[in-house]
Amino acid sequence: MSVTVVGSIALDTVESPSGRNAEGLGGAAVYFALAAAHFTRVHLVGVVGEDFPQEHVRLLESKNIDLTGLEYATGKTFRWTGRYHDDVNERDTLDTQLNVFEQFHPKLPEAARAAEYLFLGNIHPALQREVLEQSHHRFAGLDTMNLWIATTPDDLRQVLRPVDTLIINDAEAKQLTEVNDLRQAARQIQTLGPRLVVIKKGEHGCMLFGAEEQIFAIPALPLETVIDPTGAGDSFAGGFMGYLAKEGNTEFDTLKRAVVYGSALASCTCEAFGPNRLAQVDAAEVEARYQAFRSLTQF
Ligand code: AMP
Repeated sequence: MSVTVVGSIALDTVESPSGRNAEGLGGAAVYFALAAAHFTRVHLVGVVGEDFPQEHVRLLESKNIDLTGLEYATGKTFRWTGRYHDDVNERDTLDTQLNVFEQFHPKLPEAARAAEYLFLGNIHPALQREVLEQSHHRFAGLDTMNLWIATTPDDLRQVLRPVDTLIINDAEAKQLTEVNDLRQAARQIQTLGPRLVVIKKGEHGCMLFGAEEQIFAIPALPLETVIDPTGAGDSFAGGFMGYLAKEGNTEFDTLKRAVVYGSALASCTCEAFGPNRLAQVDAAEVEARYQAFRSLTQF
């Protein structure tokens, strides 16, 4: 089964203690697509400007990613600039230039509409709703951010209602629910619509909440060096959704394995600037990381 993702496609400039990467391939939907493509066919829906380098198009096309839904608009590609602190868990956004992303209204081609799995990347919740209405999915995931929680809470609540899973970080879960206890926050999110809630906790791993007592938690893989964590959360979501689409079911045991594969791909993303490592890693290495999680957590 295939996955459709809608979200940002960007040229990112990132500074971290390990160096600087100017105008590299980025965007939440790109990280998601590259991670999910390890498991299944991905339909990428997004917009770029006339300046988007062809080498990035070729890379995505070489990876089991369908670009029929990639729109070329007049103007410049979305740009984002961020700087990580010495503690790479902290970062500042230095600049955001929406450019062609500002007027983006996603249009899903037929194959993207027909995909069984849909992921609504972090865009305005009203646009996420437009996508939901075009899609014939049977399982939908959604990401959001502090900006939409604060500025468009009603739109966000509307789009959350029919969604199956929300994948957000711990700070956003607390902001959305105004509850500090993550277990309580997850249960409250479930009353808003999603029956599954995944809460990402950065270097501390993540938690999955299903029905009643169904809770699963794993740490993050302890890495020797984190070069650039940009897109780790989106890579997690891509690995998670891609694996579910490959397996074709959402039993709790499948969901647990999906969390581990998502975490494995997120760890790859952190090991190089941009999606460079994520795009290179092969199936044997993903499997080795999956096993590393097994030995890390078994006792
Ligand atoms: P993350 O590290 O998971 O926050 O994801 C970072 C990615 O999200 C970068 O590749 C950015 O290009 C992209 N991004 C940053 N700000 C936004 C925004 N306001 N809307 C959509 N995507 C964004």
